[in-house]
Amino acid sequence: MAEIKKREPLLSVRNMKVHFQVSAGDKAWPWAPKKTLKAVDGVSFDLYPGETLGVVGESGCGKSTLSRAILNLIPATDGEIVWMGKDLRQGTEKDWHAVRRDIQMIFQDPLASLNPRMTIAQIIGEPLRVHRPELSEADVMKRVRSMMAKVGLREQMINRYPHEFSGGQCQRIGIARALILEPKLIICDEPVSALDVSIQAQIINLLKELQREMGLALIFIAHDLAVVKHISDRVLVMYLGREMELAEKQALYEMPTHPYTRALLSAIPIPDPALERQKEIQILQGDLPSPINPPSGCVFRTRCPLAIEACGGEVPKLRPITDRTRAACIRA
Ligand code: SF4
Repeated sequence: MAEIKKREPLLSVRNMKVHFQVSAGDKAWPWAPKKTLKAVDGVSFDLYPGETLGVVGESGCGKSTLSRAILNLIPATDGEIVWMGKDLRQGTEKDWHAVRRDIQMIFQDPLASLNPRMTIAQIIGEPLRVHRPELSEADVMKRVRSMMAKVGLREQMINRYPHEFSGGQCQRIGIARALILEPKLIICDEPVSALDVSIQAQIINLLKELQREMGLALIFIAHDLAVVKHISDRVLVMYLGREMELAEKQALYEMPTHPYTRALLSAIPIPDPALERQKEIQILQGDLPSPINPPSGCVFRTRCPLAIEACGGEVPKLRPITDRTRAACIRA
């Protein structure tokens, strides 16, 4: 890890905020002032070449919004997105076009993310036709065939349509489409949550293999800490749009410091029935509060078993707890 940190980061996200103005929900009074929904509220991290950052948290914690804001698919309200030393929020549309060649995305629902009217050859080759117009059709098809082989799709499938494939195969097509431009970073937005467990393992192993071969960096988003464990170097835990803990994988799984991380980890089933019976599960009380009206101070305090009065004061910032862990908790 220390070795990774000596290098320049590929991507630095600094104090990113994504806020939306939403209607107050009063249909009888449509002129009521709008409220601010803080989907992402002050998130910062660095990502190094070849590294995998896992991003986890419950549904609604802002992880998918964060990933889309990095690609400007949803504009960030504030903060910096520094890609290879250049702040993209100050960049032009031309800068973003170039960056989209280097940063690709894999989506949660593999079938819905593929155009049903296009063949596999057209889908996988499309990014080349947009970003590399100088390539001949023969070159495009050569690269498509080679990429299909890399992700484990047979050449005979090349003229088939997405509905003719299983969920796992559709995700392989999505991965081939994301990799065809040889990007530097892939953002994987819950790429395995719609798949069967056995297929999840295949897709994660495929991503790890391709990462090794192509030197890719990955941002791997999931709601399940058990899934990100197998692929991440570091893990960012989010809750209600804020960072709770950012740590190296081993430190996070062996010695979690934030009460929210501990609760998420205690929910992971242990394959040994005897150990599973002895395990103490920390059940979080209540529901996720509304991001329109988050609790003051620490946003986790309404569900935190360690909360004290002081937790309602200042918003805790991520601070170093050990040399491998940072947590946003006054009692960590
Ligand atoms: S700051 Fe307080 S409420 Fe927040 S996680 Fe720490 S102990 Fe819990």
